[in-house]
Amino acid sequence: MSGGDAGQMSHLDRKVPSERRAKRMAKKHKRNTTPMLASPRCGARTRRGMLCRAPAVSGRKRCRMHGGAKGSGAPKGNSNALKHGVFTGEAFAERAELRLLISQARRLLSETS
Ligand SMILES: [Zn+2]
Repeated sequence: MSGGDAGQMSHLDRKVPSERRAKRMAKKHKRNTTPMLASPRCGARTRRGMLCRAPAVSGRKRCRMHGGAKGSGAPKGNSNALKHGVFTGEAFAERAELRLLISQARRLLSETS
């Protein structure tokens, strides 16, 4: 059912071209989107292979739909899935300390020789 005669304008005919609308918006609309764009984004991989990019829940790295929701995740210090300890905080800290030591030793060697 078309329903419209030639004299009557449909809502689609009144549509403003996107370029003109953008120009008008730029003049009148005060843009304050910088804090929003600077907020941390969710890095979960979607089914399209891209990153989610939704705002991450505060204090977390994921959005509310990708594991950032309240009450999700293991409690602090949980060792139910511990296998070898390579990815524990202590192991990360130890490796960072070793890297620092090695870089300092290399710098010292390059300065002396
Ligand atoms: Zn997400």
